[in-house]
Amino acid sequence: MNILVINCGSSSLKFQLINAETEEVLAKGICERIGLDGSRIVYQPTGGEKESTESPMPDHTQAIRLVLESLTNEKTGAVRSLDEIGAVGHRLVHGGEKFASSTIITDEVIKAVEECNDLAPLHNPANLIGIAACQELMPHVPMVGVFDTAFHQTMPEKAFIYGLPYEYYKKYKVRRYGFHGTSHSYVSKRAAVLLGKPYDQVRTIVCHLGNGASVCAVKNGKSVDTSMGFTPLEGLIMGTRSGDIDPGIMEFIAEKENIDIYEVMDVLNQKSGVLGISEVSSDFRDLQVAALAGKEEAIRAMTIFAYHVAKYIGSYVAAMNGVDAIAFTAGIGENNRYVRNDICEYLGYLGIEIDQEKNSKAGEEIIITTPESKTAVMVIPTNEELVIARETFALVKQ
Ligand code: AMP
Repeated sequence: MNILVINCGSSSLKFQLINAETEEVLAKGICERIGLDGSRIVYQPTGGEKESTESPMPDHTQAIRLVLESLTNEKTGAVRSLDEIGAVGHRLVHGGEKFASSTIITDEVIKAVEECNDLAPLHNPANLIGIAACQELMPHVPMVGVFDTAFHQTMPEKAFIYGLPYEYYKKYKVRRYGFHGTSHSYVSKRAAVLLGKPYDQVRTIVCHLGNGASVCAVKNGKSVDTSMGFTPLEGLIMGTRSGDIDPGIMEFIAEKENIDIYEVMDVLNQKSGVLGISEVSSDFRDLQVAALAGKEEAIRAMTIFAYHVAKYIGSYVAAMNGVDAIAFTAGIGENNRYVRNDICEYLGYLGIEIDQEKNSKAGEEIIITTPESKTAVMVIPTNEELVIARETFALVKQ
């Protein structure tokens, strides 16, 4: 069965068509600038040329229409007709406390996801628009929702309750949810395979270091703590997000800069992180070039980033009373050996010895520590689309 995996944002839509039996990617692409001028679809069938076509996309329904046209195109399509798409898997950001696993999308599920909209006002409405667009164009194809938050629903109360009045949890469900769950789940499973141990007997710390970044403690196959919280703003310093700060700073800055809470939030989400610290870029490739050229601002931002990751790793070693594997994933974790090395320099107390030759390899699944190292450190490319396809297949084939 071929599964169409959709990751729908407010103005973009990423897609992959995956054969669920062979797990082969048949085609992939992205629609950009949906609802804006200059929208375009980038489409690439596996083994074929990447094509980029400008085409008006006033809404997500039109974007999905173009995706389906590309997938069934006579010359470059991955399939002959829409009948060859057996199911659609949607990445959904926030399932609140309602969803601890993936689910077949029904009217009740859509209602329940809508009820989580105020927990993820930027993401959930866009995800729901993607579902509606697919329902309109493929009304008889079953759909599955795979939630970013679901994997973390195993966290114990001591990890998810904030030091706030408990009534805010009871009334508004203010608590730690955590994100990147699909990635943390996939990478921690692969880490157990690389260690050659059963998943339910391994303690792994997964460092998902991309533009958004989070760390997760996975004990015996269950997420027991993670650095993102009620929103994806908490935790590590990210590309443009501040991560943890003293909440008192918000009032101070609002008064000094004469801005309101929404503007402060915009600063914390869009203008902070390594971009804010360095004033160079939010992108680690740019920072790396600048740092290698000796630009102090870039070195400072990267140093602070690595320090914060190392501190989270230390706290999760405490939370799990030890660790068997530390896994790096996502854009920076998979590709930036300098960042991995800087973080691991803090971890000598875990008996970690990095093999620099292995660490210099990027983008492949590899253990980068020496055989003598007391704790294994790994690079594991994440594959959220594959997880979504697997979960979708498992639910629709029943
Ligand atoms: P993500 O959000 O997972 O796409 O990760 C984005 C971040 O990963 C950016 O800071 C990029 O600079 C970094 N990144 C992505 N690909 C590479 C690469 N090939 N080499 C170095 N850094 C990369």
